[in-house]
Amino acid sequence: MTWWCNFLHRAAKLWKNFLRRNPLMTQTEEKTQAPDTPMVPIEKIVSLCKRRGFVYPNSEIYGGVSGIYDFGPLGVELRNNIRRYWWWSMVQTNDNVVGIEGSIITHPRVWEASGHIENFVDRLVDCKNCKRRFRQDHLPEENLLKNKCPVCGGELTEPRTFNLMMETYIGVVEGERMKTYLRGEACQNIYLDYDNVLKSSRMQIPFGICQIGKAFRNEVTPGNFLFRQREFEQWDLQFFVHPSEMQKWFDYWKQFRFEWYKGIINHKDRLRFRAHGPDELAHYAKQAFDIEYQTVLGWQEWEGIHWRQDWDLSRHSQFSGQDLSYTDPETKERYIPWIVETSGGVDRTFLNLLLDAYEEEPDPTGKESRTVLRLHPWLAPVKVAVLPLQKNKEELVTTARDIHKKLRRLMVSQYDDIANIGRRYRRQDEIGTPFCVTVDFQTLDDKTVTVRERDHMTQVRLAIDELPMYLLEQVTWK
Ligand code: ATP
Repeated sequence: MTWWCNFLHRAAKLWKNFLRRNPLMTQTEEKTQAPDTPMVPIEKIVSLCKRRGFVYPNSEIYGGVSGIYDFGPLGVELRNNIRRYWWWSMVQTNDNVVGIEGSIITHPRVWEASGHIENFVDRLVDCKNCKRRFRQDHLPEENLLKNKCPVCGGELTEPRTFNLMMETYIGVVEGERMKTYLRGEACQNIYLDYDNVLKSSRMQIPFGICQIGKAFRNEVTPGNFLFRQREFEQWDLQFFVHPSEMQKWFDYWKQFRFEWYKGIINHKDRLRFRAHGPDELAHYAKQAFDIEYQTVLGWQEWEGIHWRQDWDLSRHSQFSGQDLSYTDPETKERYIPWIVETSGGVDRTFLNLLLDAYEEEPDPTGKESRTVLRLHPWLAPVKVAVLPLQKNKEELVTTARDIHKKLRRLMVSQYDDIANIGRRYRRQDEIGTPFCVTVDFQTLDDKTVTVRERDHMTQVRLAIDELPMYLLEQVTWK
């Protein structure tokens, strides 16, 4: 069997090298690809997502809408876990942070105050030769200077400017309807509710408000699957501080968020900070950092850590006429709080985690190669699969069903008795299920089961009674 294993290992290596040299990118306008690392092509993830029910193209039967997706049965579980884990670690385990859930539609003046009506624009250029479209700020420097298409070298058109805000209307009578917008970023609700939270929650500065919510952008170059969409979800922390403490809290949350991402990925070396250059910084920002992750698309932003100073609350004070200043209860000092913002994407996290977790590897038992999603057990959509060794032995089936019924009250459990046990393991590996419980003939004698672990395919024998605690210990975040 060794020659077969060697063959598979070599085949896998060749395949990885092939992928390394041939990153199948869906769109070429994104930033350039990182050199020479065996990264997973986006197509593999798109295909897995469709095949196994993670993500579907939206309105597919009508031909789809570019940059908009739906989440299937496994996708929604993964997404909920990602969201819940963020919420737990940002809101529930920090005494000085609370959460809100604001609406998608707000008063249109909000977007004037925030500067979105005036400034939320992308500059777009087209290649006169190959007709490809690019965001001007995503062009490599050389192409920008020479006005040259990065794909075919053709001449680029003059940049055109597009506002990214999606318009909508409130009211029914034509002529009396009010034009407003689907929010272009989720965080504005936090500034709008800041004063209400302050008064209703007895929070005192320094404190933070978190929110997870949908945002909408008329992206001119949507693409690369979930990476750049027109409807997507963001998570934000806005942390309000006294100006003298700004640097301290900025450093604190910057590191906190970096460690958070590091804790849920396998390829820790693919995570880094990128400091914004002087030309990227907003006029009020002393500094800003992106947490970037390296994929087949190159190093790309995953989350932004921003120094927002007193910009947002001052603007909303000015536009609404409401005083949003804070009075320190002890010193009686009155000031507009400064803000540290951490703003990331749920969908980008979803995509990056799949890219980070996906692997095709030869099976050390020598039968066939397997696709495995090495998702963190905290986030995996299905935590455990319960499998009777044979489906035609009634006692095995009833015992397995019984175990599944008990476990599903505690975590997402799947019962599966279709096909041979090896096939069933492969099915679970492919969706990232960290544990498979097999009920075999020994179970009927001594009430023990085999627990197979996904990554190393190691097996332990456990009493059925010990199962819930054993599994909970490993799939519950801490
Ligand atoms: P980019 O430079 O990639 O356009 P941005 O700087 O405009 O991103 P922010 O407005 O800071 O992004 O949004 C915060 C986070 O929201 C980003 O770090 C990213 O994870 C996510 N995000 C932004 N735009 C999109 C999009 N079109 N599709 C999916 N996620 C997005």
